[in-house]
Amino acid sequence: MAHLQSPPHVPHATTPTRNLAAGIALTVALVLAQAWLPERSIDLAAPGAVSNLFLITAGDAPGEPPVQWVDFERRRWVCRYPANSPSQSCGITLVLSGDDPARGRNLSGFDNLEMDLAYQGSAAHLRVALRNFDPRFSKLTDGNSSRMQSINLRGRDVTGPVTLELSELTVPEWWITQFDLPREFNRPSVENVTSLSIDVADGLAGQNHELELRHLTLKGPWIARDTLYLGLLCAWLLAAGTVVGRHWRALRRSHLRQQREIDALTARTRLLRVEQDKLRRLATIDELTGVLNRRGLESALEDFEAESAGVALVLLDIDHFKHINDRWGHPVGDEVLRRMAAIVSANLRTSDVIGRWGGEEFLVACQGRHADDAVRLAEKLRDAVQRGNFDAKGRFGITASFGVALAPPGASTHRAFKRADAALYRAKAAGRNRVELDTTHDAVTTL
Ligand code: GH3
Ligand code: MG
Ligand code: MG
Repeated sequence: MAHLQSPPHVPHATTPTRNLAAGIALTVALVLAQAWLPERSIDLAAPGAVSNLFLITAGDAPGEPPVQWVDFERRRWVCRYPANSPSQSCGITLVLSGDDPARGRNLSGFDNLEMDLAYQGSAAHLRVALRNFDPRFSKLTDGNSSRMQSINLRGRDVTGPVTLELSELTVPEWWITQFDLPREFNRPSVENVTSLSIDVADGLAGQNHELELRHLTLKGPWIARDTLYLGLLCAWLLAAGTVVGRHWRALRRSHLRQQREIDALTARTRLLRVEQDKLRRLATIDELTGVLNRRGLESALEDFEAESAGVALVLLDIDHFKHINDRWGHPVGDEVLRRMAAIVSANLRTSDVIGRWGGEEFLVACQGRHADDAVRLAEKLRDAVQRGNFDAKGRFGITASFGVALAPPGASTHRAFKRADAALYRAKAAGRNRVELDTTHDAVTTL
C-alpha cells in the first residue's frame, strides 16, 4: 500500500545564505554605527533644557547676596566678596528634576560632560558637582542629603572647553563623613540626578570671581557598547537556536515519516510471507483429499533422495473405481477418494508421507523401512481398505491393489516409482486386492 506523498519542503538553497549575509551586514552596520555615528547629546545650558537655573551661595553674611547675574541670558555671573566674608561657596545650579523633586534624570547612558566655562578670578579650584537623589537615605527637606558627586578643576585649567568623564566624579569625604551611611550608599551613581552645580568653593574672601557658562552638554552613545554587543550576541544565539530547532524538527518529522513507512513495509512483508506460505502449502496439497498432491510428493521424494536415507514406496490404486463413478456417480467417487486418503493416513507413522499421485492412485513413501516392513504396511493398508467404510449407506465395498518397491540410499526414487508401478500392474493382473513387491532390484534384500 504505497502512499503517494508530497515531497518534503526543501527551503530554497540560497535563503539561509541570504539570511546569514543579511545578519552579518546588520551586525557590522550596528557596530559601525555605534562607533561612528554622532553621539547622543543633551545641551543642558540651552534655554528650556533645564527646569531652573539658580545662583547659589553658602555661608553668606546677612545682607545683599554677594553673587549676582551679570547677564542671565549668557549665563554670566559674578561673585564679589569682601575680605572678611564668611561665604563658603558661590556658583550656579541647574535643577534637573521636574515637578517631582525626588525624580531626577538618569544619566547612566552618558559618558561625558562637555563644558565651556570662562572664568576670571584667582580661585585655585572650580567645582562641578551632581546631586543624586536616593530614596533610601535622601530627604526632600535636606538638599544636602542627595548624594554629592563632584570633581575639582584647577582654575587655570578652565580657560576653554573641557570634557569631563562622568566616571571621574567622586563622592567627597566630607559628605561621606557627614551622613555616615553604609559603604554601599557612598558609591557614585548617576541614575537619579536632580541637579548639577558649578561653583567656586575656595578663596572667596576679598576676591571677585566672574564666570560665564557658554556650553554644557552631556554626551553618550545612543546605545551602550556592552548593551549592543550583548544584544547582538543574544540575537545571534536566538537565530542559531531557531535554525537548529527548525532543522531538528524537520529531521524528526522526516525520521518519524520514514519510521512509519518502514513499519508499514514490515507489516506488509510479514503479510506477504504468510500469504506466500499459504500459497506454497496450497500448491502442494490435493484439494479433494487434503493429502499431498503430485507436486508435494515429488518434492518429498527429492528431500528423501537428498537425505540419502533410502525409501520404500507403496503405490496404491483403487480397484474398478471407474465402476463406482459410473454406478453411484462422481460425487460418491470423490467421497471414496477422501475416505481412502483418511484410512491410509490413519495407518501410517508420522514419518511416512502420503499423497495422491493422480486419479485414484495414492503413493506412500516411508523412510527407512525394510522390504518386509513395506510389504507388511501394504498388506495392512490393503486389509484396512477392504474392511473400510467408503459409503455412508453401505452400498458397496472397496478394494485396492498395491505395488511395493524400494529405493536404497542414493538410488533414484523416480526409478523406484516405475518399479512400484510395474509391481502394481502385476497385482492388478493377478486379480487385484493384492500386494506385489518389486523383485527386480537387489535393494529388496539390502535395504
Ligand atoms: P482398475 O481396477 O484397473 O484400476 O480399474 P479402474 O476403473 O479403477 O481404472 P480406470 O483407469 O479405468 O478408471 C479410473 C477412473 O477414475 C476414471 C476416472 O473417471 C476416475 N477418476 C479419476 N479422478 C477422479 C476424481 O477426482 N473423482 C472421481 N470421482 N473419479 C475420478
Ligand atoms: Mg488407475
Ligand atoms: Mg483403479
